[in-house]
Amino acid sequence: MKRKTFITLSSTLMAAPIISPFERMFQNKKLKNWSGNLEYSTDKVFYPQSVEAIQKLVKAHDKYKALGTRHCFNRIADSKDNLISMTEMNKVVSLDEKEQTVTVEGGIKYGILAPHLDEKGFALHNLASLPHISVAGSIATATHGSGVGNGNLATAVTALELVIPDGSVVHFSKNKDGENFLAAVVGLGALGFVTKVTLHVEPTYMVKQNVFVKLPMTQLKDHFNEIVSAGYSVSLFTDWQSDSINEVWIKRRDDGTSKNMEAQFYGAKAATKNLHPIAELSAENCTEQLGVAGKWYERLPHFKMGFTPSSGVELQSEYFIPQVNAVDAIFAIQRLGKQIGPHLFISEIRTIAADDLWMSPCRHQASVALHFTWKQEWDSVQKLLPLIEKELEPYKARPHWGKLFTMSPKVLTSRYEKLEDFKKMVEMYDPKGQMRNEFLNTNIFST
Ligand SMILES: Cc1cc2nc3c(=O)[nH]c(=O)nc-3n(C[C@H](O)[C@H](O)[C@H](O)COP(=O)(O)OP(=O)(O)OC[C@H]3O[C@@H](n4cnc5c(N)ncnc54)[C@H](O)[C@@H]3O)c2cc1C
Repeated sequence: MKRKTFITLSSTLMAAPIISPFERMFQNKKLKNWSGNLEYSTDKVFYPQSVEAIQKLVKAHDKYKALGTRHCFNRIADSKDNLISMTEMNKVVSLDEKEQTVTVEGGIKYGILAPHLDEKGFALHNLASLPHISVAGSIATATHGSGVGNGNLATAVTALELVIPDGSVVHFSKNKDGENFLAAVVGLGALGFVTKVTLHVEPTYMVKQNVFVKLPMTQLKDHFNEIVSAGYSVSLFTDWQSDSINEVWIKRRDDGTSKNMEAQFYGAKAATKNLHPIAELSAENCTEQLGVAGKWYERLPHFKMGFTPSSGVELQSEYFIPQVNAVDAIFAIQRLGKQIGPHLFISEIRTIAADDLWMSPCRHQASVALHFTWKQEWDSVQKLLPLIEKELEPYKARPHWGKLFTMSPKVLTSRYEKLEDFKKMVEMYDPKGQMRNEFLNTNIFST
C-alpha cells in the first residue's frame, strides 16, 4: 500500500466506528467514483471479507448496495443508505484444470486474476480496455472488450454465488439453472451480492498488437466487416473530425508462426511508435504495440495495470447497435462531428459477439459499440447525448449500463425484451427492494 493511502485509511479508520475486523466500516468521508464525476450519496461504507460478514450486514441493515471498483460513470452503484464494498472479497478460490474453470471472489480485479491464471497456463477469452475493474462489477454491467467472435466478459461466467437480502446464499449454474442463470449474470447489482464467480478459462496464449493511423472513412464504408475481422480484437479510435479514423488497434493471437502485418492496412499506415488512443497523451500507460508478442493480459487491454487508464478526468457513454447497421450508424455520428468535437477526448468503435444473457446489450445481436470518452463537461455532454441517441434511434441502440445516457425508461424497456421478466426475477430474490437504488427505480422499475 502506498504511504499516502495508508495514512488516509488510518486516519479515516480512527474517525470511524469499527464494527468488527470482518465488516470494517469507514464513515465521515463520502467516496467518489473513479473519474470523480460523482460522489456516492452515503458516507457509510462497509468492507466485508467473508460471506458471513455480508450475511450479518444484510440482516443488520434495511437497504444497501454492492460497490465494486467504482468505475461506473452513472449512479448504478450508488446508495443513500449503505455501500457494501466488495473490494476485500478478492481472492482466487480454485482453478479446475480439467473443467477449465476458475472460481474467484467477486471483488477481484481482472488485473490480479490474469497473471495468476497465466502462471498456471490459462487465460480468459477477452478483457476490457483496462484491467483495473472488478470481475463482479464488470459482469453486472455487461462490460466488454472487442472482437467479432468474442462475447462480452459476462459470457465467460459458468456459475455464480450470491448472498441475497434475506441472508441466504444462492447459486446459479449455467448447466443446471437455464433461464434463471441467464437472468442473473448481467444482474445490474439488483439480485444480491455476488460473492463468487466461476469463469471459463482456456489454455494461455500470446497476442501481437499493431496500430495503424488514418484509415480513410471510404475504406471503412466499403470494408467494415473485413476491417473489424482483421484480428482477434479490433478497436477503431476516432474524434469524428476528419475523413479518417484516427487509429486502428489490431490484436492478433500469435502461436509463434504469425507473419508481421504489412505497412499499410486499408489505406492506413502502420504506426512507428507506441501510441495512446488520445494521440496527444503519452503511450507510457498503454500496452505494448508494434507487433511485439506478449502475454494475452498484457495486450488485450489498451491500458496497463498500475498506470492510469484512458484520460482520468472524463465522462463516458456507449451505445450498442446491430453490427449490420454499423456503417450507417457511424456515418450518422460522423455528421455530428462539429458539435461533438469540442467536448470529446476520443471515441472507440468495437464489435461484440451475440449472447443470450437477459440484460446484456448484445443479447441475440452481433453488436457494434460506439463509445465516447468525453471531457468532464456534463452541462454540454447532457445536451449532446439526446442528439446521439436520436441519430441511433433507427438502430434501436442500447446504452452501456455503467456509462452515461439520457434515454427514457420507456425506451429502455422497449429495447430489452427480457426486462419485464428480469423485474420479476429481482422481485423474487429481493422482494422488499433492499438492493434497489434510484438508478434501478428509475431505469428498470418505473415502467
Ligand atoms: C477508464 C475506464 C475504462 C473502461 N473501459 C471499459 C471497456 O473497455 N468496456 C466496457 O464495457 N466498460 C468499460 N468501462 C466501464 C466499466 O467496465 C464498468 O463500469 C464496470 O461495471 C466497472 O466495474 P466496477 O467493479 O468498477 O463496478 P462498480 O461501478 O463498482 O459497480 C457497477 C455495478 O456492479 C454492481 N456490483 C459491483 N460489485 C458487485 C458484487 N460483488 N455483487 C453484486 N453487484 C456488484 C454495483 O452494485 C453496480 O450496480 C470503463 C470504465 C473506465 C472508468
